[in-house]
Order: sequence, then C-alpha cells, then structure tokens
Amino acid sequence: MTEELFREDATLPTCTATVLAVDEIGVVLDRTVFYPLGGGQAGDAGTLTTETGAVLAIADTRKHPGRPGDIAHVPAAGGDLAAFAAGTRVTARIDEARRLAHRRFHTATHLLCALVPYPVDGCSITAGYARLDFHMNEALDKAALNAGIARLVAEAHAVRHRWIGEAELDANPQLVRSMSVQPPRGLGRIRVLEIEGVDLQPCGGTHVANTADIGAVVVTKIEKKSAMTRRVVLGFAEPSPAHPDQAFPHGTGSAGP
Ligand SMILES: [Zn+2]
Repeated sequence: MTEELFREDATLPTCTATVLAVDEIGVVLDRTVFYPLGGGQAGDAGTLTTETGAVLAIADTRKHPGRPGDIAHVPAAGGDLAAFAAGTRVTARIDEARRLAHRRFHTATHLLCALVPYPVDGCSITAGYARLDFHMNEALDKAALNAGIARLVAEAHAVRHRWIGEAELDANPQLVRSMSVQPPRGLGRIRVLEIEGVDLQPCGGTHVANTADIGAVVVTKIEKKSAMTRRVVLGFAEPSPAHPDQAFPHGTGSAGP
C-alpha cells in the first residue's frame, strides 16, 4: 500500500521513501509525492535517487494494475533498475513544472464545470492542454467561456479539499458531475474538492490553492464530437515552461490538440 502524500498536499515536490517492489510495471514505494494517472489527470514524471546517488528517471506514474493500493513509478526507456531493489531508501522528486501545469489546468476544468451546467462524460488533463467533454447539444460560446474563466480567476476563490463519508455523498447526489468517473467506493471516505462559492464535487486530483493561481488559461477550441458531446479544450495563454511548444500565444491560437 503506497501512502499518497499528494492527496493532502499537492505542492510537495519531494519525499523520502522505501522501495516495496520492482516489477515490469515499475517501482512501488511505501509513500510517494507522484500522482498516478487517474480522474483524467496525467501521471507525474520525475526522478528516484538512492542514498548512493543512483538516479532513475521516471516517465509516468500509474496505479499498479496487479497490486491494489500500490502506485507504480514507470521508468523512462532504458532506465537501469539495478540499484532500486526492494528495501532501498530513495528520494522521490517530481517534475514540478509538469505538476504545476496539471494543477493549473485541473483547477481550470472545475471552473468550466461551474460555467457549463451539463454532465461531464470525459476529461483529459496534461501539461500542454486540458479537455473536457460535456454531455449536451447546445452550442457553447468561446468568448463567453473565456470571460467567465477570467472572471473566476480574477475573483481569487479559495480552493480546498475535505473528506466526506459515503452516506453524505449518497444524500447529495448532485455532487457527482461526471458520468464517466464515479468516485471510488468502499474506502469509507471520499475526497471532495471545493472552490469556494463556485464548484463542489468529488475529486482526487491535484489543484492550485486559489483560482488566482490558475493564471492565464483560455479556451483554445470548442468541438462538436457527437450529437450529444461538446468538447472544450483549454490551453495556456503564455508559454508553459514544461511544454513551450504547446503554448497558445495570447490565447488566439487555433492549432492544438
Ligand atoms: Zn479536481
């Protein structure tokens, strides 16, 4: 079982940990700051470093498919695992620029949920863009959405998480906005993300602490994916340190994912 330090503090860049297991999926630690792919949000990248200085580049992070509760740190191609046997003490460090991009985009998707009052049936959050699929057939206005996002960012709403019981969730079914990602059951408690006065829904992802920290995120594209699906794509309005090639200068770019 990997202790999930990122659930309580999404700003932690590093932690010490002990290797529990190594297999074809990756390196499992007893605790980690690496977020595993889930809830639409991409997994973290970074490095694991032993006390003797061996460094392993981590390309991605996944919930281990064969070890429930464990998180696998997926080595970059060609990584040498020789120094990372079970029992080894390591320092885990995430790629902070990539994580910050995830946190900004992820929090921005919550703003979109507040602006577009329809169920969500798909979501993808990366360091270069985010997209959200809404179950609806009405048209969406890009300028109006951008004005709404800019207003909610400027209003600087506090963002915080808390844990509720399953009974409380069942008593408030309107909390569940997503059709495709239901909150995990059977753990006794569910993490809820609140943007004060704006949005409240179950979410296990990483977010910024205030909507002001989202900065310049804009809608770059709106697509009709099907009769009942409208896809909204978000991008940075300034170059992202993690993915400068995927930036959308001044928010007017039409190219993108
Ligand atoms: Zn979230």
